[in-house]
Amino acid sequence: MEWGGSDYGNLLMQYCFTTRYEGVSQAPFDSLNLAFHVGDDRSNVKENRARLEEKLGVSKLVFMDQVHGDTVVLVHTGDESPTCDAMITNVKGIGLAVMVADCIPILFYDEVHHAIGVAHAGRTGSLLNVGQKTAQTMAETFGSRMEELKIWIGPSIHVCCYEVGIEVTKGFEKALQVKEGKYFLDLQRYNQEAFLALGVKREHIEISDVCSCCNADYFSYRREKQTGRFAGVITL
Ligand SMILES: [Zn+2]
Repeated sequence: MEWGGSDYGNLLMQYCFTTRYEGVSQAPFDSLNLAFHVGDDRSNVKENRARLEEKLGVSKLVFMDQVHGDTVVLVHTGDESPTCDAMITNVKGIGLAVMVADCIPILFYDEVHHAIGVAHAGRTGSLLNVGQKTAQTMAETFGSRMEELKIWIGPSIHVCCYEVGIEVTKGFEKALQVKEGKYFLDLQRYNQEAFLALGVKREHIEISDVCSCCNADYFSYRREKQTGRFAGVITL
């Protein structure tokens, strides 16, 4: 796992991106599959989620029923299981999780107002600006200022592997690479540019250099088709 956090005497926030290791699921979900909807055994997913909660030290880890939309939900109790593609909260003890296998897991932290957020940004969600809407909803809800917001763009399929048909390139002209007549999307750059346009500082946007399709430590829908989901998680 990639771990991080802020420590000013007390641990105020921690985040991580899981890999496919240290879980109990069998192939093709081996082994830390965190998603119920992919065909894995439910009891294995529950055990995997419990292991993650234990590792993070949080009892309330909230997962979304993700639908490639742009709805942002405010989490209050930690018992929610909302249908949406982004969540925000400022309640201590709650962790927010976004599941992916090539889509981008985006994490948000406002250390001034002590608030967090997550967003699920695939091709569709990116075009809907789900990440930018998450940042804006944090501003409206918590008073977050764009220049203070920290953003992590997690492991996800990169331009090296993300070949798409020309019919889905509309809107992505600035994040497109053409090689030998084939089209490749740079979704990380697309989202980075959108955050910069909002006023987020470049040095506050951390982009993982891991391509989930190149790196077999991560689940990849493009590489494996039937597979598990790893997660980006941030906790207060
Ligand atoms: Zn790649």
